[in-house]
Amino acid sequence: MAQIIDGKALAAQVKAEVKTEVAAWTAQGHRPPYLAVVLVGDNPASASYVRGKAKDAAEVGINSDTLHYETDITEAELLDLIRRLNQDNTVDGILVQLPLPDHINEQKVIEAIAPEKDADGFHPASIGQLVLGQPGFQPATPAGIMEMLTRSGIPTSGAHAVVVGRSNIVGKPMANLLLQKGVDATVTICHSRTRDLAAITRSADILVAAIGRAHFITADMVKPGATVIDVGINRVDDATRERGYRLVGDVDFEAVRDIAGWITPVPGGVGPMTRAMLMRNTLNAAKRAT
Ligand code: NDP
Repeated sequence: MAQIIDGKALAAQVKAEVKTEVAAWTAQGHRPPYLAVVLVGDNPASASYVRGKAKDAAEVGINSDTLHYETDITEAELLDLIRRLNQDNTVDGILVQLPLPDHINEQKVIEAIAPEKDADGFHPASIGQLVLGQPGFQPATPAGIMEMLTRSGIPTSGAHAVVVGRSNIVGKPMANLLLQKGVDATVTICHSRTRDLAAITRSADILVAAIGRAHFITADMVKPGATVIDVGINRVDDATRERGYRLVGDVDFEAVRDIAGWITPVPGGVGPMTRAMLMRNTLNAAKRAT
């Protein structure tokens, strides 16, 4: 039976560390770090993520505001808002909750954020630094997964790491972090056109599932003893729940936990760690600004 990597407990550790660092920072006479969170429209999942981020910020002593705009905000208006936040010296980190409505070009918005305030680590400058192994903002989800591996004592050097998914915010940065010198995994990236996916995932010592399909990774796709990191957040109907659904990952948790050595649950795995890493990014943004 696999050991559970408790994302909630690890996130609590990271947040406690950030809280201590924020307190030390303000004790030196600096104002508390400030994160501006931009939310467009009323996507319930986005609204819930943003509420979570505001709560985390309050918990660690970071000030934050959610700037909420109606779906009909134009791209030009949003870009103008970002320009103003870029110029505002009281703003350390800027985060635009994705997805944005179809009439707004997400990449353009991401690129409008000043790289030194890029709390999400999605700006091409941040991604470039990550690939080059230079210090910079790292996307919170893959950075959180690296923390989970390190803090759980899971060896990465020479391990075969298989990342299923090649998105710009999870799959690609994840693969690059695993590849860094010092981490030293041998990395394979899979996607929807990969042939014989199960044969590849079965050879993984570390398997990261970032697909967005409920229970896609089944027990027969996992090598005994492997570390399985489940990034997916999927809604499945559940009449027994008041809200009519529950959240599950990309991994068939109940079956895979019998085979794997380590596994992250959903919820309570990668999600909380992602949020904690965002707080660390915001603190780093404040420190870099001075
Ligand atoms: P994307 O939809 O951007 O990417 C999904 C990836 O999965 C794509 O690269 C796609 O391949 C690949 N894929 C789809 N179907 C298959 C298949 N049948 N076989 C192999 N690969 C396949 O998703 P994200 O990376 O943004 O997110 C992935 C999941 O993680 C989602 O459930 C999301 O909600 C969750 N998530 C969770 C976070 C957290 O904090 N826990 C943070 C961010 C995301 P192709 O490129 O060929 O289309």
